[in-house]
Amino acid sequence: APGDDHVIVLFGATGDLARRELIPGLFHLAKAGLLPPRYRIIGSARSTRTDDEFRQLAKDAVAEFGLAEPTGEAWDEFASSLSYGAATPTDSQPLLDAVAAAEKALGGHPRRLFHLAVPPAAFTPTIGMLADTGLARNARIIVEKPFGTDLASARALNDTIHATFDESQVFRIDHFLGKESVDNILALRFANGLFEPIWNRDHISHVQIDVPETIGIEGRAAFFEQTGAFRDMIVTHLFQVLGFVAMEPPTSLAANQLRDETTKVFEAMPPLDPTRVVRGQYRGYRDEPGVDAGSQTETFIAARVEVDNWRWSGVPFYLRTGKSLGQKRQAITLGFTEPPLRMFALDAATPNNQLVIDFDDPGWIAAHFLAKEPGATMRLGGATMTFRYADSFCTRHALAGYERLILDAMLGDQSLFTRADGIERLWEVSAPLLDDPPPVEPYSPGSWGPDSTDRLISPHHWYLPDNP
Ligand code: NAP
Repeated sequence: APGDDHVIVLFGATGDLARRELIPGLFHLAKAGLLPPRYRIIGSARSTRTDDEFRQLAKDAVAEFGLAEPTGEAWDEFASSLSYGAATPTDSQPLLDAVAAAEKALGGHPRRLFHLAVPPAAFTPTIGMLADTGLARNARIIVEKPFGTDLASARALNDTIHATFDESQVFRIDHFLGKESVDNILALRFANGLFEPIWNRDHISHVQIDVPETIGIEGRAAFFEQTGAFRDMIVTHLFQVLGFVAMEPPTSLAANQLRDETTKVFEAMPPLDPTRVVRGQYRGYRDEPGVDAGSQTETFIAARVEVDNWRWSGVPFYLRTGKSLGQKRQAITLGFTEPPLRMFALDAATPNNQLVIDFDDPGWIAAHFLAKEPGATMRLGGATMTFRYADSFCTRHALAGYERLILDAMLGDQSLFTRADGIERLWEVSAPLLDDPPPVEPYSPGSWGPDSTDRLISPHHWYLPDNP
């Protein structure tokens, strides 16, 4: 657990993300003994609330979304750390009073951690308020996605942040990086002589990063119409996962060494070619309340991405994600090259070898290979070796993505947080697509997106085996 006393201010404390993930996550950390020995958590939003009303909101959130019931001594202790301080553009006094009271209760100089779970339009004014009131001094700040909507806005946001905070104090959240199974990519690759030697263009023919979702936009038209699947999923999550899959071995796991390597991957990615991107929109999307009848917002996106460096030159990375698709999955597939000689009778379409990393926590890893079918003839069939976390480890101490990241922010460990230069490079890579997006193609809900997605990946095929 972090040793420093902490005052955590949760901006947007009454919002969806706070109730669904952040408050339950903080309680889970408290129960696991992973909050500092002495801490206070202050909820903040523009609306007025008493401390007790906020405690009730937190209790309801934990009851609805948490892993542990909000009862007993653990809850009482956690609840007693909670207070509330409103801050509006014209009056932040209630928040200042709440911070002063919390710091007085803890004594000394507790660390301040500000978590910005507010709408993006509130990022800049909130940071301005932290600067003007002096609250920002010696503090750390967690910033939620989306980090800008293009290169110019991401740069402007970084400039705003850096006017008040040093980069070492900034924790930009991409919650996919808090996933056990994404972090495990580092272990898989860099702790195992079995895998690292084959992790390159000599042995891997293509890579797929596939995050289909079955849900639609769930009434969030106002948000989705402005965002679309590319900004919502690719720039934030899938590119970061690609960074972990493709990076060179860092010389250590120190935060900046890791982030130097992912940033180098992003620098090696040529700007996206819009002719190698499929944008789809599910039939019925334009009938959703709040969606424009002529909307060109994509609910599906598939893209072919390159990483032009020594390790990956010529190896396509195919990314796919979308709403209202056939299955909910989060998987990376490495497709391996064929051996030099085909001495077995194989159907041309038989996939050769794949390593599949399912990263929908708890996740699993499966190696798909060919084996001889028992019997008199040399017939081959598909076989699988599978790793499941629960078979090899006690998973009782697993943390959800947000829990892990909030804990790391308290510890000051930036390894799993994105860095200003990496984010800006990703928007630069995205610019040709944002400037000149291909028209959206319709697809049926429950399908795998527009037909042209199969042409995009040809001569390879989308590969998504069922859960073992
Ligand atoms: P939300 O449900 O609309 O909640 C927004 C919260 O911020 C509320 O507490 C709201 O309370 C406060 N707020 C709204 N406008 C504000 C302003 N101008 N200044 C200060 N506070 C303001 O939004 P959300 O879904 O929780 O999302 C919050 C942030 O997390 C967004 O940046 C979003 O992109 C990001 N995020 C959300 C999710 C998710 O699953 N929801 C996932 C990843 C990232 P008041 O109206 O009382 O001020």
